Amino acid sequence: MTLSKKITKKLPKKLPKRLLKILLPRRMHNVLGACAIVALSSLCGNVQASDKFDIEAVKTKYNSIDYVYTSIPERGYNYYKVADNAYYIHNEFDSMVFFITDIGVVVYDARPELTPGVLDLIPKLTDKKITHVIYSHHHRDHAEGMHLYVESGLMAKDAKIIAQRETEEFLKIAHEDLPAERANMRPMPNLVWDDEYVLETGGLRLEFKNYSRNWHSHDDAVVYAPKQKILFATDTFHAKSAPWIHFGEASDPMMTWKIPQILLDDYPDFEFVITGHEKIVATHEDLEQYRDLIADMQKIMWEVVKSDGFHATMKEAGLRYKDGSEWWNYREGIDLAAELCAAKFVERWAPKVRNASLNAKENFSMMFMQNMILNP
Ligand SMILES: [Zn+2]
Repeated sequence: MTLSKKITKKLPKKLPKRLLKILLPRRMHNVLGACAIVALSSLCGNVQASDKFDIEAVKTKYNSIDYVYTSIPERGYNYYKVADNAYYIHNEFDSMVFFITDIGVVVYDARPELTPGVLDLIPKLTDKKITHVIYSHHHRDHAEGMHLYVESGLMAKDAKIIAQRETEEFLKIAHEDLPAERANMRPMPNLVWDDEYVLETGGLRLEFKNYSRNWHSHDDAVVYAPKQKILFATDTFHAKSAPWIHFGEASDPMMTWKIPQILLDDYPDFEFVITGHEKIVATHEDLEQYRDLIADMQKIMWEVVKSDGFHATMKEAGLRYKDGSEWWNYREGIDLAAELCAAKFVERWAPKVRNASLNAKENFSMMFMQNMILNP
């Protein structure tokens, strides 16, 4: 979730048009201008359409921690292949994937900040039209680029905008509540699926699945490309990193902590998992590491709450607060547990992942509350 999404999330439903204009995602006009000469397109990317795909070389370069710290070209995006005819495109923090099939282009996600780059890049790689664009979920930082596809002139006549039923429901609400100018940035889908769906187009197969519980939004979905071994699980985790604050603003934290193992069990063969953020593409190993990190966080939490030190301090707090002690005890218990857990976590994980100390206290606070109070 980007900062701009956080800001817009807090906005009242009806907004003055002037304010909306300021808040609209920054268009990458410079991107559209850059690399304009198709003949020079061979200079624009790192991996070319005609290059033979070498998965190990891609992993070595683009799954390395060093790649996180590389700068973005002036055109505002970079891209590389993650399978034959599957392209990973990213800016500083957003990422998307599109497939060039035998008959057209299938785009996953509609990031407003990155879509101008996608629309710049596609004609440099193929003359084919876009046949499908898929909503990952309804959140603005993933969905408000959809109107740019519709307006681009690059969509096939009978192109499909795909969404799962819950996403459609949220978009309906947006179209009822928001000013048209804002709502129209997320046009309604014309292909809606329910629990499961398979898309077969131009030799590409995509398998859609809606788990009954969500990890991040209220309309999360998983999509798998079995031939390319690419799994789409948006806003699940960040490769080689400790979790985002509140575990990526988890809508159902208990599910958020289960989803890594569920994905590893249900899709044992995937090579890459596309999460929608970061320059580096996440691998099977990265999801395994994240699963282990979460398991270790749970272990740390139980170690701390069973420790003599935690109990002694809680007893001392109980004596200190006489009136209204329940309020203070509750608060102090959560803070103390989070602090003790964070210290242990940083010691164990700082050498292995990025951002180990950044959100540790907040995340342990959430984990403590969920495990000890809400779902013991
Ligand atoms: Zn989201």
